[in-house]
Amino acid sequence: MTEQKIVLSGMRSTGKIHLGNYFGALKNWIDLQDRYRCYYFAADWHALTSDYADPSQIAQNTIEMVIDWIAAGLDPERSTIFIQSMVPDHAELQLLMSMITPLGWRVPTYKEQIQQIENKDLATYGFLGYPVLQTVDIAIYRAHFVPVGEDQASHLEISREIVRRFNYLYKAEVFPEPQALFTPTPKVPGVDGRKMSKSYNNAINLSDSPEVILQKCKQMFTDPQRLKRSDPGRPEVCNLYDFHKLVSPLEIQERVAFQCRAAEIGCVDDKKLLAQILTDFLEPIRRRREELLRDRATVYDILVEGSRKARERTAETMDAVRSAMGLDYRKVLEKMETVAG
Ligand code: SF4
Repeated sequence: MTEQKIVLSGMRSTGKIHLGNYFGALKNWIDLQDRYRCYYFAADWHALTSDYADPSQIAQNTIEMVIDWIAAGLDPERSTIFIQSMVPDHAELQLLMSMITPLGWRVPTYKEQIQQIENKDLATYGFLGYPVLQTVDIAIYRAHFVPVGEDQASHLEISREIVRRFNYLYKAEVFPEPQALFTPTPKVPGVDGRKMSKSYNNAINLSDSPEVILQKCKQMFTDPQRLKRSDPGRPEVCNLYDFHKLVSPLEIQERVAFQCRAAEIGCVDDKKLLAQILTDFLEPIRRRREELLRDRATVYDILVEGSRKARERTAETMDAVRSAMGLDYRKVLEKMETVAG
């Protein structure tokens, strides 16, 4: 049997997962579990690049996020789920890779990062090395694929360049060049119509209660030209309708669009309908989440075991790396004895 290809992906530890994270990444991760050998990690060190001054929330955010992953369907039996800082080999390889990464190559800033992280001083050594750490996160598992949306494909280019340089300098084929695995990433708006993001405070979380979901649906923007219930509406410009497209069965989407255009359904009723559909959609996740929160020892065991499995893989990589770089002291000593006769 040929070895399964390796998929690697991570999320910065930002806390509870929202629908944007779910449809933008997590759902794809779940779908990939049966086709690849998957490694998924919580990037707590990446969170430190921006939250170094007050790291008090990072661990809690990491746990909240991982609980959501598992509740939504990431299966610790099929995927390796771990925390970045529980696999210290990432740090060693980052140091080694930083030796070979020319300064001119550094991505000066990740536009998205900068947009998302406001009011924080990112002029640190740690943030400068962010792209190298990100490369290492992938390379240390000798991952073949990284699931990305089409707009993020260029992020992988620097990773490919760094591993290519390593392989070239040390005349070794330690690292495959990671390829983008394009996954569907539908547009997920926030309740205010902007992109859903924790920092915009416009997100619907997987863990939101039915009451909170209803309240958020009530806040959603609808067709701005539809002032009265008797005005025909335009689902194609309605922020709320975008959510129907994500979570409602096709027949409901079609019915709502028809009734909206014919002014047969009011926006207030549609908000209630969507709230119910979202609640039903999230209910199993919320229930599983509560079970996990009642059984935290199991969550801890999953993370310890996942990190152990991850370290098994990284240890192999680091042996190959040290050997390629001539830092394998046992081998060097053995050679010296041979020469000495
Ligand atoms: S009825 Fe629904 S789809 Fe139509 S404008 Fe109102 S909220 Fe949007």
